[in-house]
Amino acid sequence: MKTIAVSIVTPDGQVFDGEAEMVIAKAQSGELGILPGHVAMVAPLAIGSVRIKNKNETEYVAVSGGFLEVQPKKVTILAQSAERAEDIDVDRALRAKQRAEERLKQAKQEHIDFKRAELALKRAINRIEVANMVRK
Ligand code: ATP
Repeated sequence: MKTIAVSIVTPDGQVFDGEAEMVIAKAQSGELGILPGHVAMVAPLAIGSVRIKNKNETEYVAVSGGFLEVQPKKVTILAQSAERAEDIDVDRALRAKQRAEERLKQAKQEHIDFKRAELALKRAINRIEVANMVRK
């Protein structure tokens, strides 16, 4: 089967570098499925999972927003942060989720940064969900 090169890069370095028969990512406009030969494009990403399918195996990566660039032979994801499912510290994500939920409760009374807490909550929930994709 034809494949497309996939690279996921963050400010801390490269998180994934490999080949895929298909890449599924969560753009802000909705889920995108990319096959080899896809038309060139750039799309902003949502907080979500990237699924990289190759030879009946799927690699799951949690991504906290950024950009996806497609060229016919290469998909590049530039992410604010990204972790492979097996590298996710679930306890840390659970603690982050709890902290964010507490901040959101306070935010209603004190008008502290609601949006920031909401994004932290989304990142934590996404990490927990992506970790569960391989641990079920
Ligand atoms: P926390 O409050 O736990 O730091 P956060 O959502 O604020 O969570 P980020 O700012 O998105 O964290 O990420 C900071 C760095 O820590 C990034 O390199 C990211 O990949 C890593 N990271 C964050 N949470 C986890 C986790 N649960 N497991 C593994 N790496 C994580």
